Amino acid sequence: MSKPVVAIVGRPNVGKSTIFNRIVGERISIVEDVPGVTRDRIYSSAEWLTHEFNIIDTGGIELGNEPFLDQIRQQAEIAIDEADVIIFLTNGREGVTAADEIVAKILYRSNKPVVLGVNKIDNPEMREMVYDFYSLGFGEPFPISGSHGLGLGDLLDEAAKHFKKDDGDEYGEEVIKFSLIGRPNVGKSSLVNALLGEERVIVSNVAGTTRDAIDSSYTFDGQEYVIIDTAGMRKKGKVYETTEKYSVLRALRAIERSDVVLVVIDGEEGIIEQDKKIAGYAHDAGRAVVIVVNKWDAVEKDEKTMNKWEQNIRDHFQFLDYAPIIFLSAKTKKRIHTLLPVINVASENHALRVQSSVLNEVVMDAVAMNPTPTDNGKRLRIYYATQVAVKPPTFVVFVNDPELMHFSYERFLENRIRDAFGFEGTPIRIIARARK
Ligand code: GDP
Ligand code: GDP
Repeated sequence: MSKPVVAIVGRPNVGKSTIFNRIVGERISIVEDVPGVTRDRIYSSAEWLTHEFNIIDTGGIELGNEPFLDQIRQQAEIAIDEADVIIFLTNGREGVTAADEIVAKILYRSNKPVVLGVNKIDNPEMREMVYDFYSLGFGEPFPISGSHGLGLGDLLDEAAKHFKKDDGDEYGEEVIKFSLIGRPNVGKSSLVNALLGEERVIVSNVAGTTRDAIDSSYTFDGQEYVIIDTAGMRKKGKVYETTEKYSVLRALRAIERSDVVLVVIDGEEGIIEQDKKIAGYAHDAGRAVVIVVNKWDAVEKDEKTMNKWEQNIRDHFQFLDYAPIIFLSAKTKKRIHTLLPVINVASENHALRVQSSVLNEVVMDAVAMNPTPTDNGKRLRIYYATQVAVKPPTFVVFVNDPELMHFSYERFLENRIRDAFGFEGTPIRIIARARK
C-alpha cells in the first residue's frame, strides 16, 4: 500500500526530467484516461523489475522567483522530507560544480540513502569521467545516459537496495483511510478540526512507517478512521509549503494512501478550473470520492440552491458522476454529521466484490437489451465477465476482439453494472480482453 518514494535532485539541466520520464515510461499516459485531466509530470508511480515505487522530479517543483541556489536548496529539502531514497543527479560532461557541492552538503545532513547518478555519459569511452564524482562523498557514482537510456538499471538496482521490506498495510483492513484535498482556503483544516472536535475523540498522531507523515486516527460509532496526512497539520512554515506544485505533490501522496478522498469545494467562491484538476487526481488514482461543498453557511440560499449546485457540479465534474455530494459548514458544523455515513458507504463500495454468476447475468441482460457494436461488419462478442480486483472494483470482460469494445459501449456496461450493484462513491474499471 505504502510504496517507497524515490526523489531525483540536482541542479538544473543535469537531466532530471529526462531520467524521470525514462523511469516512468508509459505510465503517465496510461493514467490520463480522462479528457482534460493530466497529472503534473513531477510525481508518478513507476516499476523496476519487481519493485513498485513512486518517483518525484524535484526539479519540476518551481519555487517562484527565488534565487537559483535557494531553489536547489529547497528542492533538496523536499527530497529529504518526502523520499525514502534520493537519486542525486549530476552532469558527467561538466564535472563536479559548486552547485553540486551545495546539494551534497544538504544531503549529508539527512540520513536518507543517496544514490549518485552521473548523467550524459552517452558512450562507454566517457565512463572514466565519473571518477571525479567520488569526491562528492556518496560512494560509487553510477554512469548513466538519460537520452540513450543507459545505466538506469544499475542505478535503480542500487536505489531498490534501500527500499524497506514490504511491511504490509500501515493500518488494518477494517480502518477507513481518508484524505481531504482541495485548493488552499476551501476549509480543509477547518473541516478536519470540526470532525475531530465534533466527535470528542482522542486524536493521536500516528507516525507513518516509512515517512514522518502525521495522520489522525479516531473512532466513531465503532468504526475506526484515519485522516491521512492532513493539510496544515504538518511542517507549517517551510518556504515551499505554499507553492502550487508542492501542494499537488502532497495531495497526490495523500490520495494514494487513502481509500476515500474528499474533494473539498468552497461554496462561497464556487467551482474553478483548479478544483477540476484536483478532483481528476482522485479519479485517476482509482479512489472512492465524495464531493464536499464547504462554507454552506455563507451561501445565500433558497429551496432551489442545492439542486442548482448539484447540477453545476455534475456539469463540471462529469468524470465523477459516481461521487456523492455533501453540503456542509465546517464553521457552524451544520450537516457535518452527514459526512461519515457517506464516507462509510463509499468505502464499502470501493471494496465491494460481486458474485460472478450475478455479474454475468447483468452483463448478458445488458447485451440482450442493447446489441453489441459492429465495426466493418465484425460484431463485438462478449463471452463472460469477472471481477478481478477491488479498490477500485475492476472487471475483465472477455471478448472476441477488444478493439471492438468502444468507449460508449463500455460506458453502457458500466451503467448497467452500476444500476445492478450500486457502487456509489467509487469508480469502477472495465477491461476488455481477448479470449484466446
Ligand atoms: P533537468 O533540468 O535536470 O530536468 O534537465 P533536463 O532533463 O531538462 O535535461 C537538460 C538537457 O540535457 C536537455 O537538453 C536534455 O536533452 C539533455 N540531456 C538529458 N540527459 C542527457 C544525456 O544522457 N545525454 C545528453 N547528451 N544529454 C542529455
Ligand atoms: P484550507 O487551506 O483548505 O485548510 O482552509 P482553512 O481551513 O484554513 O480555511 C480557510 C478559511 O476559510 C478560514 O478563514 C476559515 O475560517 C474559513 N472557513 C473554513 N470553513 C468555513 C465554513 O464552513 N464557513 C465559512 N464561512 N468559512 C469557513
